[in-house]
Amino acid sequence: MEALTIRLCRIASVTGGAGEAAVVAALAEHIRRTDQRSRLDVRTVVSDHDRLHRPNLICHLAGTNRQVVVLLGHVDTVGTADYGALRPLATDPLALTERIAKGAMGGAMAELAQGGEWLFGRGVLDMKSGLAVAAGVLLRRARDQVSGPHLLFAACADEEATSLGARTVGPWISRFCSERGLQLAGVIKTDFTASITEGQPRRIYSASVGKVLLGVSVFGVVSHAGEPEAGLDPNRLLAGITTALTYRPHLADRTADGETAPVVVTLSQSDDKRRYDVQTPIAAHALYNLLQVRSAPSERLQTMLAEIRQAVAAQEAEMRGLSRGWPVSVCTWSELWQAASGAVRRSLERQAARLAGQQPHQLNRRLVERLVALTGTAPAVVVYVAAPPIPRVTSSAALSHRLNGLAAQGQPVVNAGHFPFISDLSFMVDSPDQQDRKVLADLPQLLGKTPDPPVLAPGEVILAGPCGDGAHRADERLERRYTFSVLPSLVDSLVDRLAAEGS
Ligand SMILES: [Zn+2]
Repeated sequence: MEALTIRLCRIASVTGGAGEAAVVAALAEHIRRTDQRSRLDVRTVVSDHDRLHRPNLICHLAGTNRQVVVLLGHVDTVGTADYGALRPLATDPLALTERIAKGAMGGAMAELAQGGEWLFGRGVLDMKSGLAVAAGVLLRRARDQVSGPHLLFAACADEEATSLGARTVGPWISRFCSERGLQLAGVIKTDFTASITEGQPRRIYSASVGKVLLGVSVFGVVSHAGEPEAGLDPNRLLAGITTALTYRPHLADRTADGETAPVVVTLSQSDDKRRYDVQTPIAAHALYNLLQVRSAPSERLQTMLAEIRQAVAAQEAEMRGLSRGWPVSVCTWSELWQAASGAVRRSLERQAARLAGQQPHQLNRRLVERLVALTGTAPAVVVYVAAPPIPRVTSSAALSHRLNGLAAQGQPVVNAGHFPFISDLSFMVDSPDQQDRKVLADLPQLLGKTPDPPVLAPGEVILAGPCGDGAHRADERLERRYTFSVLPSLVDSLVDRLAAEGS
């Protein structure tokens, strides 16, 4: 598994490049070659709506009962620009680890690299080693003709960007099960688990957070900087909104038993000025990261909207007499869209067609700007959903409880609840969030339409993967002993546990 990890790492596979398909091909070749009795059905499925037509690998090992367990991974990685001068070695774990052992990343990293326990490199942790472990479990079960559930190994493209692979593979698996009269027991993603502390158990997860990317655009009143009372500076308003929403523990979503999601932070904030002059900006825009462990996306949106209204009212009270811009209306995209005329809507539909291919947050912001311009709404604060929401997925209480007991059975792992980093698991099994269609009314790109949700089978979700540190950083490194000696048998036992749970 370690040799396969290194081999897969040497194929640079930054999201959106040719390497993603090359990793799929290398994995398929490895699996076909190792599966000497041809017990596995190895195929690729091309992602829907993908301009790059990227393939996803799916391998099927027939089972002896009606249960299906999926081992899920992704073939892409983030870029390598963060490696600086070491960039040429970023995808060669052995050479990079050797160079780091000689001090190329400072004394602390050199000590780690010299110890032999750590392997450095882009993708070693996130998640070429996870692919190698999943493939190893699959091949071992095929070789030994283990009785039990059907096993599907899916290696998807585009996880680090928009999850086009998983959005295709999830419904594909649901159809696979229903056409054969099989039942999806659950999905185990072998992606990396968060950083470790010496002597502490490693983490696994029995749920994955949901996410809403909240967009707020403030349209002010332009004035000469020497005459601020004649205008309304949108940056001032947006700063107040950001202060109200971010790093507020009371706004972090929380489960009934006290598990708390990360607090809200911005993912960007800027005004629309492209050059310097002494005029106040026309508009300012922010994107906020909302993560859910309990609430429906539309509930979160309502909570944020109430906070934003309060923040704007507080600023109005503070700035009374200082700016002629008031009152400022606070509205949602759906309110503006519902009030828009047919001509305005058609104009937006044409603009949306022209902007097709842009990233969702860019496209949606442009549509907001256009709608405000066409309806003369400024000064205004417009609240919208800036990208398709990512559903929260969770395992049953019974399975979570059993996973809590793994440590007592001698496994060095603890169930940490919700995986906090967003994952492809969100698109593999059904989620109550899929039924929350209300939130989609505030996603501009849909232009008032609400498409049917994808058809996904219900199932359990587990994230159990390689351990290490520094994912998405230049010191990305893998803890070899846990990953190659403990994890394979843990994943193997989780396959049986899921099947037992589902039967
Ligand atoms: Zn990953």
